[in-house]
Amino acid sequence: MAEIGTPQRPLRVAIVGSGPSGFFAAETLLKSLVVCAVDMFERLPVPFGLVRGGVAPDHPKIRSASRVFEKTAEHERFRYFGNVTIGRDLPIEELRHFYDAILLAYGAEGDRPMDVPGESLPGSHAATAFVGWYNAHPDYRNERFDLSCETAVVVGMGNVAMDVARMLATPVDILKTTDIADYALDALAESNIREIHIVARRGPAQVKCTLPELKEMAEIPGATPMVEPDEFSLTPACRQEIDASPGLKRIIEVLEEYSHNRPADGRRVRFRFFLAPAAVLGGDRVEAMCFERTRLAGEPGRQKAWGTGTLVDIPCGLVFRSVGYRGRPMPGVPFNEKTGTIPHTGGRVEDNGRELPGLYVAGWIKRGPTGVIGTNKPDSLETVKTLLSDLERLTPCAEPDSDAVERLLKNRGVRVVSYADWKRIDAAEVARGAARGKPRERFSRIEDMLAVLDNCQP
Ligand code: NAP
Repeated sequence: MAEIGTPQRPLRVAIVGSGPSGFFAAETLLKSLVVCAVDMFERLPVPFGLVRGGVAPDHPKIRSASRVFEKTAEHERFRYFGNVTIGRDLPIEELRHFYDAILLAYGAEGDRPMDVPGESLPGSHAATAFVGWYNAHPDYRNERFDLSCETAVVVGMGNVAMDVARMLATPVDILKTTDIADYALDALAESNIREIHIVARRGPAQVKCTLPELKEMAEIPGATPMVEPDEFSLTPACRQEIDASPGLKRIIEVLEEYSHNRPADGRRVRFRFFLAPAAVLGGDRVEAMCFERTRLAGEPGRQKAWGTGTLVDIPCGLVFRSVGYRGRPMPGVPFNEKTGTIPHTGGRVEDNGRELPGLYVAGWIKRGPTGVIGTNKPDSLETVKTLLSDLERLTPCAEPDSDAVERLLKNRGVRVVSYADWKRIDAAEVARGAARGKPRERFSRIEDMLAVLDNCQP
């Protein structure tokens, strides 16, 4: 038998997930001196993970990261299996029959709860559901957000909270030139939201959002970003944190500028600090969000929020919890319930400290939901390095044949979407968008995506 990793017998790697970490891993494998063949599996017909379903529509530059992935997808030893759910259509154990190594890069699709009473009241939502909804993600297209109220509360102060607040605050005349879902645009055109509170349990020096996202709030026509002056406070430890970080210093300067803004006509985006979620209040639906006032204590860089016992209610009709994503387990793969990640060393999956060569992990399901798209590049590189260093101890798969995988899936009634198929869906979306003056009008139903391939345009 030919040696694995040669033109005669390339190293066969299955990548599960088509987001940034999956594509960066594919790129690294395909550029390696070890000859690799990469098959990428994606549960949706359409690729690119959060670049498509997470990045806000008014951030086209960030979305254009997918261009790099398109180059990788054109490689002759790359094959795309869209519309295939690993773990359901094809269990991990079966995948091993066709691949020498499996690299899990399926991200963190769940969301973290606040764990407070009233969290499931109508009107209280995961920010991730709102993000998926305005991005036409099939899982969220049927979500409904009652935008008839005047005040929305977004809990958490990371970049997802910024995206949600910005989408609520931005005039639809601007949004209509983006690739936002048409139904979301219609709903936002009717929105009565005037006030958006973005609420952090710690202080200005501990915000998780980044400077460009913070500054963007001042660029939204008709919206005023504000900080309550008496919530703009810094402990001596905060001052040490700021002195140690020029980036944080700039963030503090921007927040301080916002603290001088006074309420104006139009929408207000209020940055609130030192408020930890205590309860979502309401009868049949959300009427207010109750917070406990906090104070900070701890070493610089490790300050925690401690409750003071003082409760503060913010009357509102909508609550978005934006306190982080959370990974989900994959059947047959070890999982750390506490962190929502797959245990590993250097990207090699481990089961109770026992190495599992042949099984690898990259991206958010490896390190947790942190960092921007580019953060996945070194992360995936580390995993691929580990995988390639295992070359000698990998068990060669029994049937190194991608066509056999496709046949098996077909026999199970799975409609596999190839990369060429995706290009047809892509072209149809762009054409639909052009007709509306938008860069793209996405299909939000899987059946509509597949209908393009049957030549019956939805
Ligand atoms: P994140 O950056 O981790 O922020 C989570 C926020 O929730 C923090 O403010 C955190 O406060 C707060 N939080 C966590 N648990 C809480 C609790 N129990 N009660 C109250 N507050 C709580 O998460 P994210 O916003 O979901 O973003 C995920 C990743 O995607 C980040 O790395 C982000 O930068 C990235 N992203 C980037 C972009 C972009 O580049 N434009 C856009 C979207 C997302 P503490 O600090 O006190 O824990």
